Amino acid sequence: MYHTKLNPSQIEEGREILRKYYDSFIATLTALHQPLTVEGRIQTRLAIENIEFNLTGRFDRLDWLDDGLELIDYKSGKERKELDSAEIDLQIGLYYLALEEKYKKSLKRLSLLYLRTGEKVSFDTTDAHKQLVKATIGKIALQLRYDCQWEPAPGAKCQTCSYSCYCSAVTENPLPLPDYAKPECELQLVLGF
Ligand code: SF4
Repeated sequence: MYHTKLNPSQIEEGREILRKYYDSFIATLTALHQPLTVEGRIQTRLAIENIEFNLTGRFDRLDWLDDGLELIDYKSGKERKELDSAEIDLQIGLYYLALEEKYKKSLKRLSLLYLRTGEKVSFDTTDAHKQLVKATIGKIALQLRYDCQWEPAPGAKCQTCSYSCYCSAVTENPLPLPDYAKPECELQLVLGF
């Protein structure tokens, strides 16, 4: 038997949201189109600077347009969060890349549907969003590469350092590093959006 944990006012609130959704987004349509998919998850891989980025994201609904795709995100919160344009541009770029890879179509629009107010805010998307995200990931990759290059810093601790026989800072002819100690040639990172 199913027990709901919602109280009567929450149930009424939910009904009101659905009524608002119907009035704002359904009743005005001349024809209903089936979404391409709902509550989807996308994933793609991107290799930059020998670092493999695994991009994963979720979305509420994806629609076909005549010339591409529209990604729809439902917003049900009471508080309307201030939109950060840089954050939105990056998010669009990530979706653009991942959706293009999966559906072989370009993302033309990202739309936010505010269920409590019946508003729809849309952002047109272009190839520039994809380039932006590639450039941003490229910078992260370079930074990771840079951070992985440690310079030796000789000092008192060298006396007890088990690495000293391999360390060019304190040993004239250091031994070659054993295979198991060599750095990974490839890193994998997961970026969620
Ligand atoms: S021997 Fe080399 S690696 Fe070890 S503490 Fe000294 S500088 Fe660092």
